[in-house]
Amino acid sequence: MFRTRFAPSPTGYIHIGNVRSAIYPYLIAKQSDGKFILRIEDTDQKRYTAGATELIVETLRWLGLNWDEGIEVGGPNAPYFQSERKELYQKYALDLIKKGRAYPDPTPPETIDEYRKSDSAKKIPYLYRNHRPEESNLPPEEILKIWHEGVPLRFKSEPKNYEWHDEVMGDLKTGPEVCDDIILIKKDGLPTYNFAHIVDDYEMRITHVVRGVEYLSSMPNYLALYEALEIDHPKFVSLPHVLAEQGNKKLSKRDGAKSAVDYKNDGVLPEAMLNYLTCLGWNDGTEQEIYTKDELIEKFSISRIQNSSARFNETKLLWQNGMWIRKIFDEDGCDALYERTTSFWPETADSYSDDYRKQVLSIIYDRLKVLGDLKTMTEYFFASPNIDLDFLTSNKFLKKFSEQELADLLRISVDRLQKIPEENWNPDKIQNALNELFTETGTKPAELFSLIRIATSFAPFSPALHLTAHVLGRENFLSRLNSTRSALINDEN
Ligand code: GLU
Repeated sequence: MFRTRFAPSPTGYIHIGNVRSAIYPYLIAKQSDGKFILRIEDTDQKRYTAGATELIVETLRWLGLNWDEGIEVGGPNAPYFQSERKELYQKYALDLIKKGRAYPDPTPPETIDEYRKSDSAKKIPYLYRNHRPEESNLPPEEILKIWHEGVPLRFKSEPKNYEWHDEVMGDLKTGPEVCDDIILIKKDGLPTYNFAHIVDDYEMRITHVVRGVEYLSSMPNYLALYEALEIDHPKFVSLPHVLAEQGNKKLSKRDGAKSAVDYKNDGVLPEAMLNYLTCLGWNDGTEQEIYTKDELIEKFSISRIQNSSARFNETKLLWQNGMWIRKIFDEDGCDALYERTTSFWPETADSYSDDYRKQVLSIIYDRLKVLGDLKTMTEYFFASPNIDLDFLTSNKFLKKFSEQELADLLRISVDRLQKIPEENWNPDKIQNALNELFTETGTKPAELFSLIRIATSFAPFSPALHLTAHVLGRENFLSRLNSTRSALINDEN
């Protein structure tokens, strides 16, 4: 039974790459009937942003990544905000002090800066252990006294080689040049990420640490801490970067990457987001592209996580979202999809019945990339469109006709369509009438269809004409054709 965690820092924004660091550990835990834990790493108060934790919670809940232990739900290791676990870290720090592996450091920041500059001028790698203050040699009682006066506590490192296995990156090793005296507890009494996560992962009995490769360079220091604390380390699963669509940069907020919640607000379905992000850097070796959450839980495997960067591709995400929209409609029915659309209709739809909106949805769903498309794509179902004759006459199939010819075609169409009585106004009858109209007018389907479609919607796209006509209703449809015809005639005069 595996125990994994998502341990974000509440800095205000979870980009897509970060979300993957929540999905993978979730899947790993679930496929072993294990536990997924949500811990908030908020010990760096300078980076803290109000509302960020809520955003994390919203994202995970939206994606259905429900955690078994963590903030809000509690658990045996509560509290799950690191800022509320200060005493625990102090206990582990004390252990290191007693073992002679931690020391208080009163060195002012300016002096540390000087060390850095002088090492760089001498072209030697900057390592703090070469500048240890004399306090580093004091006995534990003395160390405790100085530490309690409010100075940072540092790890007393040993230059060593390290070899370890990463489940994604393979066997790795480093030389002694990367081991250093990292800060364990800051002046404000809160631990650094470097120290806190080790204590917490151990206390929470985490079996797999899943996180970005950016932490790999600190691994020797983490391994040194596990050693000094005499505790076992979990398995390490380092996820390669997610690159932005263009160039070689990591996906980042600064470069305009949207957050998961932005996509939620656009009308991306959580199923699609989960599907897309899981497959961003993982595959099961088949051609399959659409996976349900249950399938992902079943099929996900750490051994098939790619060890090279994955590239974010919004077009693919939206394509998969379109597939998911169709899947839900086709497999679970119109009502199931309709339930998801509540906040995505144009305002003008408010006064229409659920039934009417479902009819609209059922003829347009297969054209939606995001549910937000409903706002722009369905306006003309809820309000008469503004007649825009330029839009009509510049259409590539219609520009060869004069306005009078277009008006005449509309008159003939109205004459034919109004022969269908109200009770027979259904897609089949409408389709038959339209077919007859080609013969009667000698136009090509693209010409007549474009004319009738634009004359009743003034939209760049619409669902199949007979379906649109049916949903709009006989009276409404004929009246729109007539209005456009009148406009064409008046324009001519
Ligand atoms: N708090 C770290 C972050 O937000 C998490 C790293 C980890 O998962 O250990 O980047």
